[in-house]
This record gives sequence, structure tokens and C-alpha cells, in this order.
Amino acid sequence: MPASEPLTAGFWEGCAARELRIQRCADCGAHRHVPAPLCSHCRSFESSWDVSHGTGRIFSYIVVHHSVHPATDALVPYNVAVIELDDCGGVHVTSNVVGCANEDLSIGMPVRIAWEQVDPELWLYRFRPA
Ligand SMILES: [Zn+2]
Repeated sequence: MPASEPLTAGFWEGCAARELRIQRCADCGAHRHVPAPLCSHCRSFESSWDVSHGTGRIFSYIVVHHSVHPATDALVPYNVAVIELDDCGGVHVTSNVVGCANEDLSIGMPVRIAWEQVDPELWLYRFRPA
């Protein structure tokens, strides 16, 4: 289970509510993901959360064929994709694209968020072809 801490609590609370929350600098407005304490644009420590609409495009991806942990033995081959969101400043989020054969993935493919409950207390975001 991912550990929630003050810096990431807003993100995990968003996942529980099936909202993809992206951190936004309260001073200059720049978005960033993963959550970080400091804005890399203006060095502000102040931030808030924006909710993404959850649409974007595949910026990059890989297909993992070799399991390196028993938890992924039954999952290989699986993809890991970097999604460039349409909103929130086009930040990149890392996830998996589901509902599509790995062979059919392509750079630039439009995708839409798809929530998956992986534990009674944990929802994670995935993406599906739009
Ligand atoms: Zn800033």
C-alpha cells in the first residue's frame, strides 16, 4: 500500500474520490506531478490541488516482459505509459493503458482515465484508449 504523508495526502484523497488531483503552485500557477514541496519554476512552497479531466495522449511507453517481483509475475507482459494530460499544464503522469493490446499502443494515442479498485481501500488510475 502506498504511504500517505502530508505532501501526498491530497493526491491519495483524490484517488479515493476517483479524482486525479495535480498539484498547482499557488504563486505562479505551474502544475507539477509527482507532488513536491517546492515549485521548480518560482521556488514557492505554497500549493493547491486541481482536478484533471483525465484525458491526454500517450507521450511514451514501454512493455515489460520480465517480471522482477512476484507481485507482477501474473501481469507480464504489461505496459507502463507516460501520459501527457490535456489539462493541468500538460503534466506527465505514469500509469498503465488497459483495454488495449500492448501491440496496439502508439505514441500520441488519445486516452481517457479509468479507475481501478485494487484494494478495498485503494483506487488507482489507469488509462483506456479514448
Ligand atoms: Zn511557482
